[in-house]
Amino acid sequence: MIDAPPTTGENILAGIRSVTHLPISHLVYSHHHADHIGAAYLLANKDVTIIAHELTAYELSLTPDAHRPPPHVTFKDSYTLRVDNQTIQLDYKGPVHDPGNIFIYAPKQKVLMVIDIVFPGWVPFASLAEAQNPTMFIKAHDLILEYDFDYYIGGHVDRAGVRKDVLIQQNYIQDVYNNARTAILLSNSPPNATNPLSASTILGPIEAANPDNAWAMFAGYVDTLAQYCANVTTEKWLGKLGGADVYTYSHCEALVESLRIDYGVLGPFGVQPS
Ligand SMILES: [Zn+2]
Repeated sequence: MIDAPPTTGENILAGIRSVTHLPISHLVYSHHHADHIGAAYLLANKDVTIIAHELTAYELSLTPDAHRPPPHVTFKDSYTLRVDNQTIQLDYKGPVHDPGNIFIYAPKQKVLMVIDIVFPGWVPFASLAEAQNPTMFIKAHDLILEYDFDYYIGGHVDRAGVRKDVLIQQNYIQDVYNNARTAILLSNSPPNATNPLSASTILGPIEAANPDNAWAMFAGYVDTLAQYCANVTTEKWLGKLGGADVYTYSHCEALVESLRIDYGVLGPFGVQPS
């Protein structure tokens, strides 16, 4: 058994019984988030071995929760689970979503499960699906495509995916990245008819409305850039991916900030030529 989402509630037990009369031998945690393993306690008993990445065990130790029992077996890089004639490969590739989120691969069935990265048919959930490390979230798309899979399970919304869904989302995220980067570069350029984002233009009114409030200035600056990025990106993707009108702004906001502090694209807040 992989994960135990609380939204399924006790239906999870009926679901298992509808496909097998055999007992559950193992429960694998994809990562520590409660929206994916919050019903684990319904499955956990002395005969069930819970397996997770060592960082998932650590994260769970920070917020002990009886609904998410700690794993019995942890690993660092990879773990192969064999039960009868079935094999599942568990790989850790870095903090692509939260520390401990793993790639779960069934080689015989060519099914890959990586939770909270790709959302087939939809843009990701807010703020790059709450990625704690935006750089690794972006890299995750390439890491997914290295696997030989026919079906992809992402853990949210309404259907499983295929390789094409991963490529489409990678394109969308690349657009968000490019448009966020362009916004920062424009903010460091002189104002003119085609540049509404020059810092010298946008900071003045924010400062006038919020005198001596540094955070208001900065929040207003990031908001203006993220809004530009969201407008340009949404115009292209609306109708192609679900929820582009809902969450593109939050992806833009996350990447404006990540471009600044992770990628070093500091715009007007970087070292200026003298
Ligand atoms: Zn999650």
